[in-house]
Amino acid sequence: MSNIEVFRSEARAWLEQNAPEEIRGKAGDPSWHYSGGRKASFHHPAQERWFAMMRERGWTAPDWPVEYGGGGLGAQEAAALKQELARLKLPPPLEGMGLSMIGPTLLQVGSPEQCREHLPKITSGQIRWCQGYSEPSAGSDLASLQTSARQVEDRFIINGQKIWTSGAHLADWIFMLTRTDSTAPKHLGITFVLLDLDQPGVEVRQIQMISGASPFCETFFRDAVADPANVIGGVNRGWTVAKVLLTHERSGSGPGNRPGTSSISRALAAARDKLGEQDGRVRDPIVRDKLAQLAMDQQCLQLTMQRSVDSRKAGEKPGPETSIFKLCRSEVSQHHDELMMTINGPEALGWEGDGFSEQELTQTRAYLRGRGGTIAAGTSEINLNIIAKRVLGLPD
Ligand SMILES: Cc1cc2nc3c(=O)[nH]c(=O)nc-3n(C[C@H](O)[C@H](O)[C@H](O)COP(=O)(O)OP(=O)(O)OC[C@H]3O[C@@H](n4cnc5c(N)ncnc54)[C@H](O)[C@@H]3O)c2cc1C
Repeated sequence: MSNIEVFRSEARAWLEQNAPEEIRGKAGDPSWHYSGGRKASFHHPAQERWFAMMRERGWTAPDWPVEYGGGGLGAQEAAALKQELARLKLPPPLEGMGLSMIGPTLLQVGSPEQCREHLPKITSGQIRWCQGYSEPSAGSDLASLQTSARQVEDRFIINGQKIWTSGAHLADWIFMLTRTDSTAPKHLGITFVLLDLDQPGVEVRQIQMISGASPFCETFFRDAVADPANVIGGVNRGWTVAKVLLTHERSGSGPGNRPGTSSISRALAAARDKLGEQDGRVRDPIVRDKLAQLAMDQQCLQLTMQRSVDSRKAGEKPGPETSIFKLCRSEVSQHHDELMMTINGPEALGWEGDGFSEQELTQTRAYLRGRGGTIAAGTSEINLNIIAKRVLGLPD
């Protein structure tokens, strides 16, 4: 047996013996997902036990170095562990932008002091992070951002506004892009700063979304203070760091939104149930065709992402090709939700009320929520531009 297979069978045995019964099969249920932070609490004792036992092994961040509270696993072992978690449908013990975005960025471009300061607080679930990139006049054209950071003696004074800061009302710290030189060409006057949100100069206001949830925020900074030790990559050199972080965000290492094989099976079951069967197949040929297309797209995406996992095993860092994953994942996810709306027919029109099942209402809200998937982390058009220029090498 190879070392990986030995590791896999040990991990499987340990999970089967130790994972609390209550959380098995709960991977798809958001209420069992935990993002940590100073404002968080566990919604069930089993969730707390699960988090504690996984943290003890360093498996909140299995492939991070042990010195930062990670598990020290290689890419192949970490991938095997992920598969074993998926086999038992176990939710990850911890998730969020700390693990999926700022942590990997610090590991790639942060100083040892910055890693020592921030990474253990992520792996231990102490600090929850949010992302301060977009501004009212800087979305796709992110480098136009205006939020300023002025160095005064031993501190940076921050003024301006961020928008669409997902989860800022629940987060403790923000990683943000600021303008430190307004005379330089726009990409060269940007500084990447980490800032504690718990201070008088910061105000967070929630924004309601079409799905009824309000995970979005506007975040205002009025003479907020950041420590120069929390500048990543150097003053006026933040654009390079910003791009590194985006490759991690787009790589899909974080909570993904693509439909897995199980949701395609559910779509198939719903189609059989609502539209009927003929000769063992879904009766409606158009829906049948769309289901087959979706299953193929999902499989292609899976295989393409597997290639990326393989290249990581060889030590490669994620690059602009992550735009392909982000683009396809969000488009496939929207096609899935649109198909579910077609299958549900008039029952997809419910917002609330007795005439609709819980599942139908959840699906309708998921469809509405999912519209943002092709906008977040760079719109589909912007990711197509990146693929054209940076992956395929086409001219500007
Ligand atoms: C669910 C969700 C979560 C988000 N979370 C965060 C977050 O946590 N933190 C954060 O900072 N931001 C976040 N955002 C904001 C997101 O990054 C921006 O919405 C996105 O970058 C697009 O910017 P914009 O909304 O200003 O649209 P615009 O940039 O104004 O774009 C409008 C339209 O023009 C098109 N367009 C613009 N430029 C070009 C071009 N050069 N070529 C072709 N087409 C172009 C776009 O594709 C789009 O269709 C989130 C957004 C969503 C939907």
